[in-house]
Amino acid sequence: MRAVDIIHKKRSGDPLSREEIAFFVEGYTRGAIPDYQAAALAMAVYFRGMTSEETVALTESMMRTGEVLDLSDLPGPRVDKHSTGGVGDKTSLILAPLAAACGAFVPMISGRGLGHTGGTLDKLESIPGFRVGLSLKEFRDTLRRCGLGLIGQTPEIAPADRKLYALRDVTATVESLPLIAASIMSKKMAEGIDALVLDVKTGDGAFMKAFEDSKALAEAMVGIGRGMGKRVAALITDMEQPLGRTVGNALEVKESVETLQGRGPTDLESLSLELAAWMLSLARITPSLEAARTKVRDALSSGAGLRKLQEVIRLQGGDPRVCEDTSLLPRARETVELRAETEGRVVGIACRAVGQAAMLLGAGRETVDSRIDPAVGLVLHKKVGDLVHPGESLMTLHVDDRGRLDEATGMLREAVRIAREAPAARPLVRLVIDP
Ligand code: URA
Repeated sequence: MRAVDIIHKKRSGDPLSREEIAFFVEGYTRGAIPDYQAAALAMAVYFRGMTSEETVALTESMMRTGEVLDLSDLPGPRVDKHSTGGVGDKTSLILAPLAAACGAFVPMISGRGLGHTGGTLDKLESIPGFRVGLSLKEFRDTLRRCGLGLIGQTPEIAPADRKLYALRDVTATVESLPLIAASIMSKKMAEGIDALVLDVKTGDGAFMKAFEDSKALAEAMVGIGRGMGKRVAALITDMEQPLGRTVGNALEVKESVETLQGRGPTDLESLSLELAAWMLSLARITPSLEAARTKVRDALSSGAGLRKLQEVIRLQGGDPRVCEDTSLLPRARETVELRAETEGRVVGIACRAVGQAAMLLGAGRETVDSRIDPAVGLVLHKKVGDLVHPGESLMTLHVDDRGRLDEATGMLREAVRIAREAPAARPLVRLVIDP
């Protein structure tokens, strides 16, 4: 087999065989196939696409270039959730403990934030002492002991994706649906899970802004799950305004703790519960989705979810007292209010701009190696549909470095749109793609 023939075949629009895909992925990961040939193939895939069979084969090949966790010794079903990323999206910190408290094992391998989106690892690292870099052995032990483990990507998991993603990033081939779907699913399927819930965000703050694109991505990933014999469902959820009220790492941990204490904002609580219910249902812990909804709600109201979060924080070296006293989390030096100038209803909060403003304050990364400040960010006091009066605070900015404060404030002022008429209510879950 020759790499050039495979590129030629894809360029001509013919589907590649499973063997050709495996040959290419393996050869590229080992260094036997050079970057320029992989870039050419990625571009050919970008223009020609892939069939669902090819996408499954690509995912499997990428997954097999690294370790695939065997967690079959755990005494219960293994299930995870993956989000395509949003602004203020901290559901993982809420639903993983809830699902574990209900009997699931949740081996969650997460990423860091980049640009306007946040990442679970950065949020976890704002908890004093919390270690996201556990060895795979420590990860297994944590999972066995408390039903969940929360770590970052390890070099052993799907190394092909790491290499290919870096190449796609500099060859304008990131935005290819089969390449995105295979990239995400190769990492998730390496977790050794039986079932997966995908939270595919759609709207201004999402990776895929257009609903039809989000739907196509969700369908591709659910199809990969089916092709690999796993139970995978996708919820397409709204990202036209930040989720919950906080954006910024320690602030989001605080809000997650409050949600597990039963004091969370409605949108964040309801989405976290719904995703957790899907996890239990797909993991077959409950006989129906309705029964799963009741079970996760009970885990929230009994405090079992909060105790689970406390347990995993302790096992991963963090300070578990943050679950009782959130003032132990990092705090910014000062707060600045952004006040309304007009009267009316909030009709929109440009989500991407809010994420970018939080990044300017230091809560996010401009480039992969930017340093983040765990304490900074913002708290929204008004969400879409709320009434505002002149002089009322729209949001509080938590600031350590005033260097880019004016720029951030300007963006935020433009991001919040106020008008006379109340906007039509939008459902948070737009569509479910069921296996
Ligand atoms: N996230 C991933 O993990 N991979 C992609 O290709 C795009 C987003």
